[in-house]
Amino acid sequence: MSDNDKDKKTATLLAHLGSTPYRYDGVVNTPVHRASTFVLETYEEFCNCFEAPFRYGRERTPTSAAFERAIATLDGATGAVVTSSGLAAINAVIMSFVEGGEHVLLPDNLYGFTRDFCTRTLSKYGVQTEYYDPMIGADIEKQIKPNTKLLYMESPGSLTYEVQDIGAFVSVAKKYDIVTAIDNSWATPLNLKPLDLGIDISIMSATKYISGHSDMMLGVISCNEKTIDIVRDTVRQLGNCAGSEELYLGLRGLRTLDVRLERHKHSGLELAKWLSSRNEVKKVLHPALPESAGHENWKKYFLGCSGVFAIVLKETNKEKIANMLDSMQIFKMGFSWGGYESLLFPEQLNQQRLTKPWEGDGFLLRIHPGLEDLEDLKQDLADGLKRLQAN
Ligand SMILES: *Cc1c(COP(=O)(O)O)cnc(C)c1O
Repeated sequence: MSDNDKDKKTATLLAHLGSTPYRYDGVVNTPVHRASTFVLETYEEFCNCFEAPFRYGRERTPTSAAFERAIATLDGATGAVVTSSGLAAINAVIMSFVEGGEHVLLPDNLYGFTRDFCTRTLSKYGVQTEYYDPMIGADIEKQIKPNTKLLYMESPGSLTYEVQDIGAFVSVAKKYDIVTAIDNSWATPLNLKPLDLGIDISIMSATKYISGHSDMMLGVISCNEKTIDIVRDTVRQLGNCAGSEELYLGLRGLRTLDVRLERHKHSGLELAKWLSSRNEVKKVLHPALPESAGHENWKKYFLGCSGVFAIVLKETNKEKIANMLDSMQIFKMGFSWGGYESLLFPEQLNQQRLTKPWEGDGFLLRIHPGLEDLEDLKQDLADGLKRLQAN
């Protein structure tokens, strides 16, 4: 199958994208190319090496090219660029489009480490970062300034899962000729097609669902024609590159992505609905549930949902929270999500929002249902909620 076979259905693409067996003696998986150096045979080739497909490992190897092609095809992008992590991907995109004295708009539920990068690094270079209420919709226009160069989205946003009005944002950005980018780690190209909606750039932490096995770090940026050369150039200038082992694992993750996501989605939805009926739970933050902020936007723009979501507990007593979390049998406490194993993560959001305060003082739990049996997961959470009540 050729990578250009865009008419093939997603499951078929996932099984074969980036695989060129006859190039490797019939080996179906593109090998890990441990390469810094590619040698050139003649002086003429050396002189033309800027045209050569491979020149130096940091820029491209057959393994990175295969992964980039696969993701670009899934996203309907002109090209994709890999980075060492999702965070590196996001920060490279921001740096590609704003310079000192210019302005970037970011959602108030932005991934925390990018927020930190804006506050502590971009500020040093004179870039003006400003946050918007993720539910602002078409009123985003009021925050556009003459020097706004980038409108950045994360949908759903970190920890609180609001979904933005992507269509309204894209129209405003086009009106003012502003570049748009989105963090699509949650939905993946299976559940949201940002470039089809008119967004210029889609970013993923491939560490999460693409990997699926909690054993690597990887980022990827899908770009349209207008942005690909700019982003690729920034990533190169920063010296950012992904390891070949990670790229191999990224390709391997793609093979089962749709199968895994089905389970994550089913378990996530079932747990979310069940939790919303529980007394201990103040609110469930899951884009596919009507009570979640931006649910209408999710229905309008997304093709489906993935698994990870959050709940707000009524309980605020730290000892009781510890009582619940310390004895979980399956859900372990950890910062990641997207792997085969269930994780959860407690957070108090009170002081983080700038546009408007996060409601109440409840403890938020981010819940990533892994691939374990749903009934076992439910039991683990039910036992945990029972421990919340104990004295
Ligand atoms: C984890 C995460 C990132 C960062 O990705 P890394 O690969 O861990 O650097 C970015 N965005 C979101 C929404 C994430 O959850």
